[in-house]
Amino acid sequence: MKIKIHDITDAGLSLDVAEEGNVIGGLAGSLDFVFKTPVKARFDLTRTGREIQVIGSMRAGLGVVCSRCLKPFDYEFESDFQIFYSLGAEPEREKELTAADVDVNYITGEDLDTTEMLLAQLALDVPVKPLCRQDCPGLCAKCGADLNAGPCSCPVEDKHESKFAKLKDFKVK
Ligand SMILES: [Zn+2]
Ligand SMILES: [Zn+2]
Repeated sequence: MKIKIHDITDAGLSLDVAEEGNVIGGLAGSLDFVFKTPVKARFDLTRTGREIQVIGSMRAGLGVVCSRCLKPFDYEFESDFQIFYSLGAEPEREKELTAADVDVNYITGEDLDTTEMLLAQLALDVPVKPLCRQDCPGLCAKCGADLNAGPCSCPVEDKHESKFAKLKDFKVK
């Protein structure tokens, strides 16, 4: 939903919203998850001159796919966030960007879009490699069996191989 910037007064503005997943997803090209529930969120907005601070919290039931065993599972998404907006066009920069610059969003329109904020937060905080459980053994590297269902009948040396393959996932990017 859109929040009119002039509705954000010195006293601040708080709102609770529930947004349908298909509305949020409609803003994105494609998502690695599906929405199982509407996204519930709370926004506390305060305005100081040309600066707007948004403190938010959100939760949603998502369906994701385990990155090791490829099984779909339910994921309770929860996130707290803070966003800063500055009214007006982004200034021309000659110096290098500092961390503080990057955290500010410039707005020239008359409203803020909570749907966009929620989508941005999902894109940021939904795990890139979800795990159905922390120690999910994944699929056998040899036969593709789901090792959650128990050991497969591959020779032991191949299983060592699959453990090693799993370790490689942990290498530092
Ligand atoms: Zn799994
Ligand atoms: Zn196997």
